[in-house]
Amino acid sequence: MPTLEAIIGLEVHAQMNTKTKMFCGCDNDAFGKEPNTTVCEICMGHPGTLPVPNKESIIKAVKMSLALKCTVNKNSHFDRKHYFYPDLPSGFQISQYDFPLASKGKVHYDVAGKEMVCGITRLHMENDAGKLTHRGSVTLCDYNRAGTPLMEIVTEPDLRSADEAVAFAEELRRMLIAVNASEADMFKGMMRFDASISLREKGTTKLNPRSEIKNLNSFKALERALQYEEARLRKSWDETGGPLKRDITVGWLDDDGKTRMLREKETADDYRYFPEPDIPPLLIDEKMLLQIQPEPVVLPRERKKHYLAMGLNDAEAATLIDQPEMRALFDAVYAKTDDAKRTSSLILTQLMGFLNAHGKTAADAPSVNAMLDLVIAIDDGTISGNAGKTVLEKMVTTGKSPKDIIAAEGMGQISDDSKIEAFVKEAIAKNPKAIEDYKSGKQAALGAIVGYVMKQSKGQANPGKVNEILLKHL
Ligand SMILES: [Zn+2]
Repeated sequence: MPTLEAIIGLEVHAQMNTKTKMFCGCDNDAFGKEPNTTVCEICMGHPGTLPVPNKESIIKAVKMSLALKCTVNKNSHFDRKHYFYPDLPSGFQISQYDFPLASKGKVHYDVAGKEMVCGITRLHMENDAGKLTHRGSVTLCDYNRAGTPLMEIVTEPDLRSADEAVAFAEELRRMLIAVNASEADMFKGMMRFDASISLREKGTTKLNPRSEIKNLNSFKALERALQYEEARLRKSWDETGGPLKRDITVGWLDDDGKTRMLREKETADDYRYFPEPDIPPLLIDEKMLLQIQPEPVVLPRERKKHYLAMGLNDAEAATLIDQPEMRALFDAVYAKTDDAKRTSSLILTQLMGFLNAHGKTAADAPSVNAMLDLVIAIDDGTISGNAGKTVLEKMVTTGKSPKDIIAAEGMGQISDDSKIEAFVKEAIAKNPKAIEDYKSGKQAALGAIVGYVMKQSKGQANPGKVNEILLKHL
């Protein structure tokens, strides 16, 4: 038997997080809204309406193209891709066919600590279709999603296993979030994959007919579907002595854990592409590119290296890359304190711990200014580091500022000499044994006296001052 290898390529659809839809002014955030309420004549495909491209979505697609190290083409245009389906009221999708927005890029990603590269064939823009819900013998149509701006990112067949495909897709998701082109929320279907797989004898270069697995909605589905299809193609190779005879399209049945033949793949001819007559060509020159992206994009992998060099571990760096809110807080506190260990403890341990404990997410985290106010209150001695934890938890649960919490709870640290002196005198009077021990040379006895003061002052006495005043009295 020859040694076979899998040849895998992906098509990734990512919904862009623009305010309005791709070709009309409808609200692009339909999540949780009543069906068919964020629609108009344009996204419903009524005859005689004129689509107008959304500038914000073009800018986001350009930013993503640059992050993918693609060439943004000076000349691109939109095309009509014809097919009939109930979720596509106009009977055609507005996409880009032979002149896409961007082409020829590459993405670096890691698999088990090894750096890999996957080529990017192209990135183009198009509008999403509506959503169908099948209930028994009826099908419900919701057109809220119709017209949502999509980027389709097509890779070269550079991936060799399900593991590589998933690692690449995860890196791509981080990049989408990093350039703020998409929320890439998998649960909301904002990032979807079609995966193509074929087999060939190792050492040969010919691409054999492939099986395209449509509409995979999670990394897990991508992984399982590719593993299943690779095993199925290997078995078929054993039985028939070779690869597939022609391209096929299959669907993934997640519950059954297998693929199902849908059709022999349609070709471009079937779609009757032609240039969209209602939208002029897109002309993007160097000057416009510089306006859109004046500085090179900082990619998630570069960020990761930066955090690792600071002394954070892999998981901590990954949290900061995947959660922009946490990263903004971390970067601000680090800039203020220049102390990675303290920043990591405050943001990644304490804050994230409180958010988790109270069933909150990163979106509920305190603002950068509130977080810096907390750091200042600790550093200028208004509260102790310990009291800082209590304040932080209250910031998470109440959303109030540290100043308000400290004032309302009377948590201000006591630094007033006369007040501390009173506590110290009391401690000396109440702890004769410890004083005796200290005077006979036991340094540790001092700790018991300081502890007594801290307890009596409910932890609010400034420990430095307590030490200083206590030594004066001994
Ligand atoms: Zn609309």
